[in-house]
Amino acid sequence: MKLILANPRGFCAGVYMAIDVVNQLLSIARGQSIYVHHEIVHNRHVVDRFRQQNVQFVDDITEVPHDSIVVFSAHGVSPFIRQQALERNLVAIDATCPLVTKVHAEAIRYARKGYQILLIGHTSHQEVIGTRGEAPDAIQVVESPDDVPNLIIKDPEKLVYLTQTTLSRDDASRIISALKDAFPRIKDPPSDDICYATTNRQSAVSALTPQCDLVLVVGSSNSSNSQRLTEIAQAFDKPAKLIDDASELVDNWFDGVETVLITAGASAPEDLVKDLIVELITRFGGEVELHDIHHESVEFGLPGTLKEFMREQGIDPTGRRISMDTAAAIESWLTQQNVPHKVIDLTVGKT
Ligand code: SF4
Repeated sequence: MKLILANPRGFCAGVYMAIDVVNQLLSIARGQSIYVHHEIVHNRHVVDRFRQQNVQFVDDITEVPHDSIVVFSAHGVSPFIRQQALERNLVAIDATCPLVTKVHAEAIRYARKGYQILLIGHTSHQEVIGTRGEAPDAIQVVESPDDVPNLIIKDPEKLVYLTQTTLSRDDASRIISALKDAFPRIKDPPSDDICYATTNRQSAVSALTPQCDLVLVVGSSNSSNSQRLTEIAQAFDKPAKLIDDASELVDNWFDGVETVLITAGASAPEDLVKDLIVELITRFGGEVELHDIHHESVEFGLPGTLKEFMREQGIDPTGRRISMDTAAAIESWLTQQNVPHKVIDLTVGKT
């Protein structure tokens, strides 16, 4: 069997930073309990691994005892949650992805200028809840083109749309077209809100799916960007399965299959991809092809709130980084494992 491994896949800069924040706190918090508001990133394994290290995840900030440490997840929070944390005198460490913070800033800016904001996204997603909370009176959420006729618009000249960072590019384009048909003067966001990581993982799946018989996406079912990768592959009329790990494989998925594309959502750890490769090579034999579609080198430093906390503990935050298994290391790992492989450079861009 041929296994095509999409690059880029897996951890993005925002997820890497958010996980690093919790790891740093575990190494410096000296016995204090660490709470995280919502899942730090949407991946079951990441959350379970932190739970095993006594990190506590809460959906309601009032569950966090006064004066404790709380981390805001990569998806961001509304000002209401920040205020609640302040009132409880919590040490709030903000692991919001800077690209989500950028959308919050856009929402605040346009609301202050008197614009109505149409936020394209999924109403119940944490990121959308957080962004909407910045200007609840100015923001309406648009989930599909069907929502457009029901929007309540006061002045079509003062209208802007923003998007959730992890949408399908194609779905977002359909909604934007419907908005522009209905409101021709609607403003575009100052810069693209769908993030580089979402865009690159989707474009790799679009480029590689046509040559495959089955697509496996490593990721959790509550991960928006992982769901979108699965849907994109399915749009090519190919079977595509979203799995948390190799234990979820089902034998009959592989009937008549010669080529499998493997990718991973932005919150899925690379060791799960490696386990999947081992499982498939053990069962079916064959070789791995590493297909590089887009090179990424985006990195985010530790958040200011964590650096401040470190300094208060007498720790110099400069240069502190806890290393994690990254997709970039796959080739040497395949060599060590004696897995036949080759690299195919199809690079169309760098971020
Ligand atoms: S998917 Fe994009 S917006 Fe979300 S954490 Fe990663 S880089 Fe940030």
